[in-house]
Amino acid sequence: MCPAYDALRQPDHLYDTEHSYLFYDYPSPDAMPELPEVEITRRGIAPHITGREIERIIVRNPRLRWPVPVRLASKVTGRKVERVGRRAKYLLLDTGNGSIIIHLGMSGSLRILNQNVPPNHHDHVDIVFNEGSLLRYHDPRRFGCILWARHPLRHKLLRNLGPEPLHDEFDGAYLYRISRTRSGPVKQLLMNSGVVSGIGNIYANEALFLAGIHPLRRANRISAERYQYLAGNVKRVLCRAITAGGTTLRDFQKADGNPGYFGLSLQVYGKEGEPCPRCSGAIKRRTTQQRSTYYCAHCQR
Ligand code: ZN
Repeated sequence: MCPAYDALRQPDHLYDTEHSYLFYDYPSPDAMPELPEVEITRRGIAPHITGREIERIIVRNPRLRWPVPVRLASKVTGRKVERVGRRAKYLLLDTGNGSIIIHLGMSGSLRILNQNVPPNHHDHVDIVFNEGSLLRYHDPRRFGCILWARHPLRHKLLRNLGPEPLHDEFDGAYLYRISRTRSGPVKQLLMNSGVVSGIGNIYANEALFLAGIHPLRRANRISAERYQYLAGNVKRVLCRAITAGGTTLRDFQKADGNPGYFGLSLQVYGKEGEPCPRCSGAIKRRTTQQRSTYYCAHCQR
């Protein structure tokens, strides 16, 4: 298993599987970032803000997907960021008395900057630290959010999320068990955040290609053995993306950087008409529920 996998297996990646329903409805079909981009962001910012004391919060525009809470400043001012965690695609800045919950939505990004760097358009929130640096949230489309919760894992946005895909809890046996009553397409199962958290359209397409499973195959018609293979490939594709993204970490301190987004080496996603990397047949695309599904009809059954 790749180093990224081990790094993610931390006790803070708690999960709750008592419910499984899709609560998070992105307005666009292929929202970025997915889990690897959020994890790269976490690794990029953590060394710069862990242990730093929050001096103040500057909110230039509170109107994100949900309003930035008015009480945020009073909750965190004067407190240290004890650790930077992640649950699914949520970043959790633990301040000891609770956590700042950050979701990057579709276009959000975070940068570490010196306090004297003036804000640009769409730089909605700064978390200012007392030694001169700040964490700046930039989000042109404003589908992300910055919230606060005493117990973040019990927050309504997080409490019903399925297991982390890189956690041991997520394996073939789990997928097989949970799929027995589901007759929808297997790709839909992978993208249901109540089943497994943080897998979006891009990595669902890629994992199914690697596993040789047709994305539109009914979830309850797939064997335990094939689910074992699929779960392994979900982990593999996420690990590869995290490892690849590590090369962009330096960008988190650049004022003009675009952190968290990097050139993914994708096999089928976005490759309609191009040759399949395995059999050289043409990659096909189908649109279901406003999402594009890419696959090789020869290699995926
Ligand atoms: Zn093929």
